Amino acid sequence: MIKILKSNRCKKCKKRRGTRFCLRSGKNICWHDCNILRVEMKCSDNCRYALKTADDSDLFSIKTNANSNAEYQDLLKRQIERWVMLPQEIFGGKTPVRMAENETDKKLLMEFFSQFDQNKQIPLSYLYHKLSMDYPNVMDEDIIDHESVANEYLNKLIEQDWESTIEMLYLNEQYADAEYKENYLNRLSSNKIIKKLVEFDLISAALNKEQNQALVHYEVNGKYDLTILLRKRGEDWKVGAKIFGEPDLFSRENEAIKQVATLLSQNQLAHAFDILKKYSAIFTDSPDFQYYWGFYYLLSKMEQKAKPFLFNAVEIEPGFFDAKALYATTLISEKKYDRAKKLYEEIIEVYPDEIKTLNNLASIHLEQGNYDEAEILLKRCLKIDGKFEYALLNMKKIADFRENN
Ligand SMILES: [Zn+2]
Repeated sequence: MIKILKSNRCKKCKKRRGTRFCLRSGKNICWHDCNILRVEMKCSDNCRYALKTADDSDLFSIKTNANSNAEYQDLLKRQIERWVMLPQEIFGGKTPVRMAENETDKKLLMEFFSQFDQNKQIPLSYLYHKLSMDYPNVMDEDIIDHESVANEYLNKLIEQDWESTIEMLYLNEQYADAEYKENYLNRLSSNKIIKKLVEFDLISAALNKEQNQALVHYEVNGKYDLTILLRKRGEDWKVGAKIFGEPDLFSRENEAIKQVATLLSQNQLAHAFDILKKYSAIFTDSPDFQYYWGFYYLLSKMEQKAKPFLFNAVEIEPGFFDAKALYATTLISEKKYDRAKKLYEEIIEVYPDEIKTLNNLASIHLEQGNYDEAEILLKRCLKIDGKFEYALLNMKKIADFRENN
């Protein structure tokens, strides 16, 4: 069967994705081409992307819509390109490029530009460049925003510089541990799309109301959707997660997690499998889907398959208590007591009254013949709940042992 796919490319450049309908050309186009068209000031007022400026000489006071800072910056640059070439009323009809050729007019230009000096969003260096003038403010640094951080992250992925992505992550303290680090690097470098990443094109970016979370949407390798979730830590933007899909999927993550949890609690394994397969491919960095994969395989009596997923969940989010506890049980069944102990101790450090964990840790000590240490932990359990059955049973084991030895 021949499948005729309707192309989603931009009808102008034929290269980028056509993400908006252009009223003027009657076609779907990309934002780059929209910018080229709209600075001509010939777009219909009905278009939400048309430029609305009261005064042509007011170079930077454009009212319009832009779906990212990158788009807005590009628009300002195109605006600059036109502005420098056209006669400007504010300079008595002189053209800025001509003015830049003599010292007197140059001074006038610089005076005019000085009013924009404080605004970092305005690409003033580009303006000076277009006028072949030396940009006086050499200390001006590039803007570091959520978009530039997401771009930098993707560049590292293209370079396959996996290791240096760690410092860009929102949660990364766990990677001081060699085992967690190795697991992270393996997960990242074995992702089918990531390992073949060669190019990206920013489609849109959005901030939440509090301005401490951002979603930056890309098309990568000319076909896949990839959204980078960023979170603010202090003044810095950090990478929270990759979402293999459009940004609106982000709001559906919790709902999907709940759905999987419900299906598993009802032992509807086949249905749970389908949901897990679908969403864990989209939310590759979600510890929850890794955790529920582990849970799924435990319910399916495939403990060996459960283990790596549970470890992924703990690696991604070391504070994920349920995942840590469940992973520890798989370690115990393999008699890897010391590693299980370490995990339980980590849980207790955060939740000192976690009675099951206290008892589980005591059980390991019993297994290893550390009766005194086990007793201390069990006493803690019974202080929290004097009728806690498992702790009472373990206490009896200690009593029996002492009686017989
Ligand atoms: Zn285009």
